[in-house]
Amino acid sequence: TDPALIRNFCIIAHIDHGKSTLADRMLQITGVVDDRSMRAQYLDRMDIERERGITIKSQAVRLPWDGHVLNMIDTPGHVDFTYEVSRSLQACEGAILLVDAAQGIEAQTLANLYLAMNADLHIIPVLNKIDLPAAQPEKFAEELAGLIGCDPSDVLKVSGKTGEGVRELLDHVVNSVPAPIGNADAAARALIFDSVYDTYRGVVTYVRVVDGHLGKRERILMMSTNATHETLEIGVISPEPKPADLGLGVGEVGYLITGVKDVRQSRVGDTVTSAAKSATDMLAGYEHPKPMVFSGLYPIDGDEYPELREALDKLQLNDAALVYEPETSAALGFGFRVGFLGLLHMEIVRERLEREFGLSLISTAPNVVYRVVMEDGKELTVTNPSEFPAGGKVAQVFEPVTKSTILAPSEFIGAIMEICQGRRGQLLGMDYLSEDRVEIRYTLPLGEIIFDFFDQLKSRTRGYASLDYEPAGEQEAELVKVDILLQGEPVDAFSAIVHKDKAYAYGVDMAKKLRELIPRQQFEVPIQAAIGARVIARENIRAIRKDVLAKCYGGDISRKRKLLEKQKEGKKRMKMVGRVEVPQEAFVAALSTE
Ligand code: GDP
Ligand code: MG
Repeated sequence: TDPALIRNFCIIAHIDHGKSTLADRMLQITGVVDDRSMRAQYLDRMDIERERGITIKSQAVRLPWDGHVLNMIDTPGHVDFTYEVSRSLQACEGAILLVDAAQGIEAQTLANLYLAMNADLHIIPVLNKIDLPAAQPEKFAEELAGLIGCDPSDVLKVSGKTGEGVRELLDHVVNSVPAPIGNADAAARALIFDSVYDTYRGVVTYVRVVDGHLGKRERILMMSTNATHETLEIGVISPEPKPADLGLGVGEVGYLITGVKDVRQSRVGDTVTSAAKSATDMLAGYEHPKPMVFSGLYPIDGDEYPELREALDKLQLNDAALVYEPETSAALGFGFRVGFLGLLHMEIVRERLEREFGLSLISTAPNVVYRVVMEDGKELTVTNPSEFPAGGKVAQVFEPVTKSTILAPSEFIGAIMEICQGRRGQLLGMDYLSEDRVEIRYTLPLGEIIFDFFDQLKSRTRGYASLDYEPAGEQEAELVKVDILLQGEPVDAFSAIVHKDKAYAYGVDMAKKLRELIPRQQFEVPIQAAIGARVIARENIRAIRKDVLAKCYGGDISRKRKLLEKQKEGKKRMKMVGRVEVPQEAFVAALSTE
């Protein structure tokens, strides 16, 4: 295709503002998907995306329109998947910034706009859902125009649901998004913006060609690793993969398959060139996403450990952001310490492990990464609270912080500040987006956000506040490790790193919770919360006075046997902590973040 006829754009927005639905209408209006095969959120192809109604992976599709070729990329909106969005942006020259006409600008609207501006994209402001009775297109057109510095009349108005205004939007894309520019005669250079493992086809690599041409049955070179492969298939997605025998030229977006089995051999951000005629300079790639949140994952049935390892290996083929290493817990047995991009990513990985691989798992409470400097100058990185060094040898502890942005109606300013202050937030600034909508910026420790911050924020603002955050380095903090001991034995899975002002509350809560959850034993079981050797909270589980069997009087043998068998069954799901039997459910319940 002549690059002059190509337009590459993505759809970006806050979650639920209708990106995937607008993409649906574009698929339909351009005739790529016929009415009979159409289903809502067509491009959300994973089961988990469909069930949760959210987009996790970006999807690129080629759409024919008015003699042009449009490559559209639908992106995820959730903050955990920002790295997906920023990758997609680099394959485009334009971005449709979509805003729900009944909601207005939200936190991820801003975050995504800034990403698009940084990538130098042409931005098309669009209000969506104008069919809603609650839509206020005039008001929000003004807000949006104020944000990006254009005239309110430049803001397009559409309904992804009814299709109103979508043809005009496609025309606008053709007329306003710049055509890609590249050197057709130069050595081939294509940017890998996504890489997905498919059971049948191996790794499918998504590329945007910048210079030159990539053909079928060509030896290609991955510039960062110097590995060469042969392209077995090359093509475009429209909306299913369609081989393109002529290959891909300047400005085109498509896929290639080389038969490799591991996404790490086809790294996102790498530059693909031709082995016979190689480019010398790589394209600017991406920073590798860094895990922000860690949690221990253990099989409920210890025999499933090999299956868990295999499942993680397989998932990682498809999710380069997932990292893990084996760890052992005295309480939970063999498992893995797994790093995630955020809590939603964590939930999704866990759900996929359970669903796609049939595993039952316990996960420990999530924590962030700490940098600990010892008095002798040694440094360690702690991803598991139980490895936090005890005692007085610790000189300094650093925790990750975020720059967080909260958008809400101005009536909630007080409530929002109260929540943030309660979590060691430092106010950075505040701006009014309109008379009654405000943007509040805070520095907040990541560790304070990953628990119930968002829930709190939502409930204190009746659902009106939205949150976005980005990593902003680290800060020194007075953090301590709180251990939980059963009969004097620390239970590693329950150790937590908390700010010293919250240590007491954490200890008391956890001890109380466990007293409710752990059944009485033949002997008394003290539960203690301690910082080092100092006990800060204590509860007791009293001993059972009578043997359960005493209930079965005399010679009722069969009843007695039944009872014993039942006990045995129950025991299988017990974990021993010292002499104390702790039911599996107690771990699950005590570790749940709700
Ligand atoms: P995304 O998270 O931005 O991809 O949003 P979705 O496309 O998944 O849509 C979120 C919700 O908004 C879904 O329930 C859609 O049915 C609904 N929705 C999307 N576009 C429109 C629209 O134009 N009008 C109305 N009334 N609802 C819409
Ligand atoms: Mg979506």
